[in-house]
Amino acid sequence: MQPTVSEINSLFESHRVYFRTGATLPLGFRLERLQSLRAMVSTNESILCKALDADMQKPVTEAYVTEIVTVLHEIDFHIKHLKKWIAPQKVGGSLLNFPSRNLVLHRPFGVSLVISAWNYPVNLLLMPLIGAISAGCTAILKPSEIAPATSKVMADLIPQYFDPNYVSVVEGGVDVNTHLLEMPFDKMFFTGSTQVGKIVMSAAARHLSNVTLELGGKSPAIVHRDADLSVALRRIWWGKCLNAGQICVAPDYVLVHNTLKEAFVEKSAEVLDEFYPKGYTPGKNYTRIINQKHFDRIRGLTGGCNVLHGGIFRKDELVIEPTLIDGVDWNHPILQEEIFGPILPILTYSTDEDLFKALHNAPNPLALYLFSSDKHLEKRILHEVPFGGGCINDTIGHLANSNLPFGGVGSSGSGNYHGFNSFAAFSYSKGVMNKPLRPDPSLRYPPYGRKIHWIKRFLK
Ligand code: NAD
Repeated sequence: MQPTVSEINSLFESHRVYFRTGATLPLGFRLERLQSLRAMVSTNESILCKALDADMQKPVTEAYVTEIVTVLHEIDFHIKHLKKWIAPQKVGGSLLNFPSRNLVLHRPFGVSLVISAWNYPVNLLLMPLIGAISAGCTAILKPSEIAPATSKVMADLIPQYFDPNYVSVVEGGVDVNTHLLEMPFDKMFFTGSTQVGKIVMSAAARHLSNVTLELGGKSPAIVHRDADLSVALRRIWWGKCLNAGQICVAPDYVLVHNTLKEAFVEKSAEVLDEFYPKGYTPGKNYTRIINQKHFDRIRGLTGGCNVLHGGIFRKDELVIEPTLIDGVDWNHPILQEEIFGPILPILTYSTDEDLFKALHNAPNPLALYLFSSDKHLEKRILHEVPFGGGCINDTIGHLANSNLPFGGVGSSGSGNYHGFNSFAAFSYSKGVMNKPLRPDPSLRYPPYGRKIHWIKRFLK
């Protein structure tokens, strides 16, 4: 049941009161709550996988790896490192303050709001929550209404493991989110589209709330002339077929050196036959599209495209088979809008300058994948092209490493998380200088007289 405006107001207030008691601050409290979250996920993994099946028929292997194991590994990483992260960090002093002791303290923002997207509805709700718990924040979680079964399971499970004044779930859609965004949260953590990201950022601006935006965009895969084509094909199609392309970091389109296009097209069919010898069965080896609206949207994007492989849209089952297309230019909607489905446009380039021109003309991607052993090209791409993160000779894998920050830049997001970065996303750094009472030389105090000569001598 959706909460009323006054229920949202009083929930927010109860979180604020709870945070101000200081209960969330001790290391022991945070570690225990991380253990509770671990217990919640591992005890209920089959309930969670069933909900994911109900929402989008995710095959259990994919659901287990991407939504359960990834979350458990991230919790373990936080449990292992939290003591070190929360310790005050001693830093050097400055000549102007000599003598002094200087510390950086990581303090929780306070009451946080986590809004998540539907495509990884367990992962995208719980991964930020891990950061909130580690940092010592309270959290109100708003799962996506587009994955209702998972949203309901979250709303049922969270109160069994957490005090409602500390972590709670608010279910609902745009209306509920709009009310939540009116509250003066200390931290807003949003995962979703670039368009709604702008709404969240302007809501955060009203209260000067700290905000992290994990958005989407068009992530290119580049297959350079020296690429190992068979490895590139397997890894690109794996990344595109996972969750039927409904991933923020799926390779959205492929930029292939023109000498490799023919082979790329020809061998794509072989790779897909190898991956799916018995065809595409939702719930078993493939995921369906989340709903009719997205099915129609993706199908609409393929209008006017030349289908090189696939192109099968099974309306009754909401299944779109992996599809390779060409014959489109940058003005075509499929190259303007994030595809978020298993359609792979193939574009070619012949010189490095063509490639950089294409990359610079597109908005900043969330991810970029380069298939090449050319160190010079790799260095140029890493240094010259703005993108959130990515892989050399692979796709998707960078987000399964808690040591790497995960986030976008510009239109693909602002801020990042995973591992220490999640802790940092829900904390602010307080710099403190501690000065002994003696000595207390009069050099810095007025009247200044001719002190400038001494100051220049010592400080320059
Ligand atoms: P969305 O922006 O439509 O919705 C995200 C959340 O915002 C939902 O909880 C929804 O209830 C809420 N919302 C929707 N419209 C709103 C409005 N007008 N006002 C206030 N709140 C509103 O995104 P989606 O369709 O759930 O997810 C797909 C998008 O998310 C894609 O662009 C994808 O790339 C991106 N995404 C990004 C990441 C990442 O980690 N960077 C991960 C997954 C998905």
